Amino acid sequence: MNTVSFADLKLAPEILKALTEAGYTTPTPIQAQAIPAVLDDQDLMAGAQTGTGKTAAFALPILQKLLPHASASTSPARHPVRALILVPTRELAVQVEESVKGYAKYTNLRSLVVYGGVDIRTQTPHLKTGVEILVATPGRLLDHIEQKTVQLNMVQMLVLDEADRMLDMGFMPALKRILVLLPRRRQSLMFSATFSDEIKKLSEDFLIYPTLIEVARSNALAENITQKVYLVEQADKHALLAQLLRGDDAKQVIVFTKTKLTASRLARQLQREGVSADAIHGDKSQLERQQALESFKQGKVSVLIATDVAARGLDIDHLPMVINYEIPHAAEDYVHRIGRTGRAGASGKAFSLVSPEEEKYLVEIEKLIKTTIEKETAVVPHTHARPARPAATANEPHHTYHKPVANKPAHDPWFDQPYIPKVTEPAPPTTRPAFALDKPKAPIPALFRRSN
Ligand code: AMP
Repeated sequence: MNTVSFADLKLAPEILKALTEAGYTTPTPIQAQAIPAVLDDQDLMAGAQTGTGKTAAFALPILQKLLPHASASTSPARHPVRALILVPTRELAVQVEESVKGYAKYTNLRSLVVYGGVDIRTQTPHLKTGVEILVATPGRLLDHIEQKTVQLNMVQMLVLDEADRMLDMGFMPALKRILVLLPRRRQSLMFSATFSDEIKKLSEDFLIYPTLIEVARSNALAENITQKVYLVEQADKHALLAQLLRGDDAKQVIVFTKTKLTASRLARQLQREGVSADAIHGDKSQLERQQALESFKQGKVSVLIATDVAARGLDIDHLPMVINYEIPHAAEDYVHRIGRTGRAGASGKAFSLVSPEEEKYLVEIEKLIKTTIEKETAVVPHTHARPARPAATANEPHHTYHKPVANKPAHDPWFDQPYIPKVTEPAPPTTRPAFALDKPKAPIPALFRRSN
């Protein structure tokens, strides 16, 4: 049983005050384990279920350790970057920095987030005023390094959040270029929800005698998520989705698709059918992505169609349902996608629409999560029209469905437009880059040894 309090973890009163205000009463298991280890200057390899409070697990001890450097001075020289937090996606970057800022509100420590997709010049003046804690996506940080708008020679703590996703998204070359610019003497913390062999290899190169923390079995899913697979023909998926979205428990849903094109199409199709839906994916501008996410968080949009870009790290209060319109080909992504629901102890539903062609990926997913998911062969009405649904009432803000527009032509000229992808996310590398880092190799911890 976890009876430790935040005060027991030796956090300063100004940090405790912010936690009390945020409504945190007791540390989560990952926090109870990680905070003392980080305060004790240890490197960390931490695995935790999504939504377990891992941001505070690294942010709180970082703030505590940097408190002696807090300064009210306006001189940039008094505010060098001392902690660097690298994350794979823009949304996660924004979210992590918001948390850090909240926890640091009663200190004189400054934080900033920099990420791609927005004009770099808007970030430069803020960087130049000096910040102790910088949250960044790797690509944009390199841009700032090249423009000499940031110095990393005073970094004493480095966090790699969602390290497995950084590998997947091809960030390793960028990461390698950043790591050589950091002081060799530093503390490194690595967080990953899934432990692939590559992640284990990365941790060997990157961490020195790390403390291993695993608050749940790796690749485990929150136990409070009810999972179900609907076996369905690809052509019937839309009708089934519409049916699921009419359920009483579908007040706010993230629907995952494999491609940006499907995400956009589905959002438009649902909008035409009267569902308040929006899409979030890498071809949208950063502003559009943020607006869609905000509308969803505020309940103005009830269905958010997302590609895996949005799968990591998004923390949406009380999200009751996630639907995989297409299941991911990488089994780890399934864990991350459905981890959007059932956060912080709430219950959630995760439905996957699986066509016969996708069943092979389902096998891999079940192998990874070591669970056989309940399956049902879907019976879908053979009409794609969406039956009328009562209009939302004023005290039902998340349920903003409308009656379908009658006799709308089925053909949408939008579908005739050629698909021109914008390159906004790094392409995954065709071969895995060699990864030599500037730290001596640590012995392989027992947890990471292969059993065969
Ligand atoms: P994370 O796993 O960092 O994305 O956090 C998931 C959610 O749990 C966020 O909404 C946090 O604000 C919240 N949270 C983190 N730590 C605690 C805590 N000790 N008590 C209550 N809520 C927490």
